[in-house]
Amino acid sequence: MKVLVVNCGSSSLKYQVLDMDTSTLLAKGLVERIGIEGSVMRHEKIGMDKYIFEAPMKNHKDAIGYVLEALTDKEHGIVASMEEISAVGHRVVHAGEKYASSVLITEDVMAALEECIDLAPLHNPPNILGIRACQELMPKTPMVGVFDTAFHQTMKPEIYLYAIPYELYEKYKIRKYGFHGTSHKYVSMRAAALLGKDYNDVKIITCHLGNGASCAAVKNGVCIDTSMGFTPLDGLVMGTRSGAIDPAVITFIAEKEGIGADEVINILNKKSGVAGISGVSNDFRDLEEAEAKGNTRATLALNIFANRVKSFIGSYMAEMNGADAIVFTAGVGENDIGMRKLICSELENIGIKLDDEKNSIRCEECIVSKDDSKIKIMVIPTNEELMIALDTVDIIRNLK
Ligand code: AMP
Repeated sequence: MKVLVVNCGSSSLKYQVLDMDTSTLLAKGLVERIGIEGSVMRHEKIGMDKYIFEAPMKNHKDAIGYVLEALTDKEHGIVASMEEISAVGHRVVHAGEKYASSVLITEDVMAALEECIDLAPLHNPPNILGIRACQELMPKTPMVGVFDTAFHQTMKPEIYLYAIPYELYEKYKIRKYGFHGTSHKYVSMRAAALLGKDYNDVKIITCHLGNGASCAAVKNGVCIDTSMGFTPLDGLVMGTRSGAIDPAVITFIAEKEGIGADEVINILNKKSGVAGISGVSNDFRDLEEAEAKGNTRATLALNIFANRVKSFIGSYMAEMNGADAIVFTAGVGENDIGMRKLICSELENIGIKLDDEKNSIRCEECIVSKDDSKIKIMVIPTNEELMIALDTVDIIRNLK
């Protein structure tokens, strides 16, 4: 069974085609500058050179049209016709409180996603456009929605509610939702498998540390807490996002700088985090290079980042009454040996012992803790596309 996975941003579209009988990637690509001058598609049939195609693409339907042409192309394609694609899995950011798992897309689902636009004004509209475009171009192919928020819907009210007047939750659904759910689900499942434990009987702390970053506490196969909140701005310090701050800071900055609250939020989203503290970059490689040259603010940014991750690890250990494993994933979590070391330093007394040698060797899916570490430390590359494709296959098989 071949599955097309689609992830639409406002002016971009990422896609992959996976053969789910063998769990192998057949083709992938990225379309950029949709709706603006200079639209370009970079398509890659696995094992072949990239095929770069430039043409005006005024909307997502144009872009998907070219993707389908590339996928069926004699030279660069991987199928003779789109009928060989059994289903499309769509990454959708926000499903509010409506869906706790992936679903077959129907008109009711589309209406629910439209209702969530208020909660994710930047992300849900392009996700919806992408689904509509695929429905038009592949009218007979079943489509599945896989939501970033769904995995976190198992959190209890005492975790997801903010201590604000309850009516505000009732009126506007203001609460913690959490994001990166597909990644947290994937790596926690892989961690259980690698540990040889039953997913429904294991406690895992997942640290998705990329440009956006979040932690999750996964107990017995369900998410019980996560660090992002009503929006992805909450929780950990990130590349350019502040993470959690005292909300009174927002009006204080607004008043002092003579700007609106929305502009402050923009600063907290785009000019803060490790980039804001260091004044160097949001890229951890740049920060480590700057640190090596003696830049003390780069060091400060790295320490602040590590400290916040540490705090969440401690907090989730308390919430779960211990943990079997901590998983590092995403750009920083998978690649940044120094950052993993900083986060795991001085945690021996709570049963977390990093093995410096194992930590410094690059590997796919591995345990990097000492043999006598009570809590295993693992590095597991995330694979959101594969998780989306797995969920899609599950739903399609149940239809038959
Ligand atoms: P992601 O959002 O998961 O794609 O992660 C992107 C981020 O990962 C980049 O901005 C870098 O900060 C970080 N990153 C990627 N590769 C490395 C590396 N080799 N060492 C340190 N950080 C890295």
